[in-house]
Amino acid sequence: MDQFLTTRFFTYVQYKEDRRPLMVAPLMERTTPPKRLHELIKAPENLPSSIERRESWDATKPATVYLTPEVLPDGTPCTAATVILRTKGCTWWWKSGCTFCGYFNDVRDDVTAEDMLSQWSDAKRMTNDFEGCKMVKVYTSGTFFEDRENPIDWQETVLRETYEMNLHLIIEAQAHLCKDDKLSWVSSIHPGCTVAIGLEAYDDAVLRFHVNKGFNLKTWHAAVERLRKYKLRVKTYLMFKPPFMSEGDALSHSVRWIQEVSQLSDEVSINPMNIQKKTIVDRIHRNREYRPPWLWSLVKMIQESHNAVKESSCRVIVHPTAGGKIRGAHNCGKCDKEVVAAIERYSVSSEIDEFSDLSCECQSVWLDEINSDILTPAQFGTGISRRGSPLRSMLAP
Ligand code: SF4
Ligand SMILES: [Zn+2]
Repeated sequence: MDQFLTTRFFTYVQYKEDRRPLMVAPLMERTTPPKRLHELIKAPENLPSSIERRESWDATKPATVYLTPEVLPDGTPCTAATVILRTKGCTWWWKSGCTFCGYFNDVRDDVTAEDMLSQWSDAKRMTNDFEGCKMVKVYTSGTFFEDRENPIDWQETVLRETYEMNLHLIIEAQAHLCKDDKLSWVSSIHPGCTVAIGLEAYDDAVLRFHVNKGFNLKTWHAAVERLRKYKLRVKTYLMFKPPFMSEGDALSHSVRWIQEVSQLSDEVSINPMNIQKKTIVDRIHRNREYRPPWLWSLVKMIQESHNAVKESSCRVIVHPTAGGKIRGAHNCGKCDKEVVAAIERYSVSSEIDEFSDLSCECQSVWLDEINSDILTPAQFGTGISRRGSPLRSMLAP
């Protein structure tokens, strides 16, 4: 029966030290023809079970709506609503995608314009029209104003309504999509809103080989210039410890990146890596080739960049998603709660004293790892949680 196409894909091959295949496991078996090109790509996110789970979500309801304390551009504390919508997802992800991005778990590619409007109405209903909020963050798991991802009417509704409700709006975009026509249109409907760009690293080699970001620094600089031209605010996300990088390298790179990026942004948000399901980082983490960052590294990064940031007008925040958990930035388990709380407090107070009373015996283990990462030419790091031959690790290009 030709409508029943059986395609067998194979998962990545695990190698023994002598590089002979240990196991070749079937990744998926299809009994129906693939509808789209990306379904032919061998990846766990294309397993029928993954697609079924994704498409089981109610497309008329947003993925999440929650309130958090925030700070307005003028420094006034306020309450912010975060609305995460179920969209068609990021066009870059469908083509290739960033190595750590698990947003595809929340998207479904059959979402209609009516669904999007219904999700937005639901978010307003849940928050009683954003009662008590001065800020709203609208996250679409991609670029807010990319027409292939989100219907234009819906974009316009969100921009207009948030402006009419006097809410400061934060939206997200990829740098190469920040074009003149779009930014001029956005600023004509909601002047002065914030556009957050996931730059992740201020380093072209890291963007290309560690993150697979899909744009380079030149494009980011051009995007920042255009955002300024249309008087939109610039928020930049940096990633702490992208894959294929040691803890020691992550620490020294991120201090430099913060110093560079804070000169050009109104706000910098550093996201310590957290392992999202079915991503490349998830695979190397499960294979014990990657440990999420130490919380001590984040403390050290903040201490080392604090003075440079203070001299600029930029606000720097660090929010360890899943902090203290095995899939998020963590220490030994005993001190995690205290250290995460101090980092969260710093994001609000910008006071370096938040860290003055912290200590734990695991600090010496962390420091040994940082020092040996700096002294040893092991690209992926020397941490004790790393599996495999140290010799092979050092021979890695
Ligand atoms: S650009 Fe953003 S949404 Fe798209 S794949 Fe990268 S991290 Fe994910
Ligand atoms: Zn500890």
